[in-house]
Amino acid sequence: MSHSKKKIKILYFSPHADDLEFGISLTCIESLRLGNEVVEVLMTNCEYGTHRIDFKGNRLKKIRMWELDKAAKIYKKHTDNQIKIIKMGYIDGFLSLNKNTLNSVVKILRKEKPDLIFAPDPWYAIDFHNDHLNTGRLVYFAMKKLKKTELPKRVFFYYSFKTNFAIKYYRDDLEIALEALSQHKSQFSPLKIKISLLFLKIFLFFRYFKNRGFAKQVRELKFIEGIPEIHEKFNLKDKICYFFYSNWMGVPVKEEYYPTPRELGLIK
Ligand SMILES: [Zn+2]
Repeated sequence: MSHSKKKIKILYFSPHADDLEFGISLTCIESLRLGNEVVEVLMTNCEYGTHRIDFKGNRLKKIRMWELDKAAKIYKKHTDNQIKIIKMGYIDGFLSLNKNTLNSVVKILRKEKPDLIFAPDPWYAIDFHNDHLNTGRLVYFAMKKLKKTELPKRVFFYYSFKTNFAIKYYRDDLEIALEALSQHKSQFSPLKIKISLLFLKIFLFFRYFKNRGFAKQVRELKFIEGIPEIHEKFNLKDKICYFFYSNWMGVPVKEEYYPTPRELGLIK
């Protein structure tokens, strides 16, 4: 590749095999196309993501790892750049937030030394799956453990309700994103993908005017002298929006879970 810009390293934390494709693939495609070093940190083994009992367990794990590989091949085909995948190997649905998991995330960050990090939003989540929340929380608390000199340049949260940053993408990349998502056949039927695409296009149509172009909305985590900011509580407008959103999604409105580091035993 003949890009003259300095290459950077980008880490995408994904709880399950399809979350990168579902949540942040457009940004990933552009990262790869620019010739950057792109790493996906897959937190779980994805043994449970099916309603078919006979498929749960190792059989599903094998299928989903194969699908993950196929999605990576789609990216390679279109960007000429290979995404590297690190598998953390935690059990699907049971990703814990504890000293062991936190240390393992810190270890990965110290080894990989990424410039940019993407992870699911743990505080203003639009998805309440335990693994999604804990993946985001682990990245957040890992930032507190890293020394100032070890911190990435920027951290972004996807699957976020309270976005503050827009990343441009090319409209044609939607097709690639969809092709990659379609590789997760155990998760999405062709019909489901078509319906999702329709909704996505309607959603993006409205977003187009807001962003004055095609852009993916994320939330940037701000740092204050090397310490990640403490998220603000919801304001009234957020609460109202969240209420309607939760009802529309069929997710019961629940109190946001705000564990303090002290509660989590992260600081003495
Ligand atoms: Zn997931």
